[in-house]
Amino acid sequence: MTLYIATTNPGKLRDFAAAANHTITIEPLPGLKEIPAPPEDEPTFEGNARLKAIYYSRLVPGKIILADDSGLEVDALNGAPGVRSARYAEDSNFAAPSGVSTDERNNLCLLEALSKIPGPRTARYHCVLAAARDGEITAMAHGTVEGEILSAPRGTLGFGYDPLFYLPEQNKTMAELDAQTKLAFSHRGRALATFVPLFEAN
Ligand code: IMP
Repeated sequence: MTLYIATTNPGKLRDFAAAANHTITIEPLPGLKEIPAPPEDEPTFEGNARLKAIYYSRLVPGKIILADDSGLEVDALNGAPGVRSARYAEDSNFAAPSGVSTDERNNLCLLEALSKIPGPRTARYHCVLAAARDGEITAMAHGTVEGEILSAPRGTLGFGYDPLFYLPEQNKTMAELDAQTKLAFSHRGRALATFVPLFEAN
């Protein structure tokens, strides 16, 4: 069975590609770049995942469309950047050196915010997956992973906040794990572990 994931984020696409097994593959929704994105204006990951899955599934009749809404919650920042993770530096009007990517700018913004706050840097990634067909939600799943935010990036794999997100049990950041290993420990991998069997059973 093929599920179509409604994201153009190359990092998320790599994570989903690594989740393929003998019965399920998760492929990018063809033509997604040409479709105007819906506003992601819900206050929760769940709300945004639902709205994206419903919106895109209406445009592709009969197909199962998957949507991922995810982000980083830092305890010392009262759960920020949360649902605004992709737009954290932009929302904060954070000025970064020219030429840095959006991910790097977000990471610099996070480091600056935390530099003003002493104490633990505990954080978690949260992922909500929603599946919809013809505008109706057919499945939802959540996954989280606990970690700590380092003071400097480590590793070159992954995407987003991965170089700063340290997993104490692995003694590695998410950016030091290959896609398959990341999936075994990550919020997205955990959400997929409850999600994929729902489709294998059908
Ligand atoms: P969304 O596209 O609105 O769901 O925003 C997701 C954002 O959360 C990404 O752009 C990253 O900033 C962050 N994020 C979500 N999952 C991951 C991950 O697996 N690694 C690193 N950053 C992530």
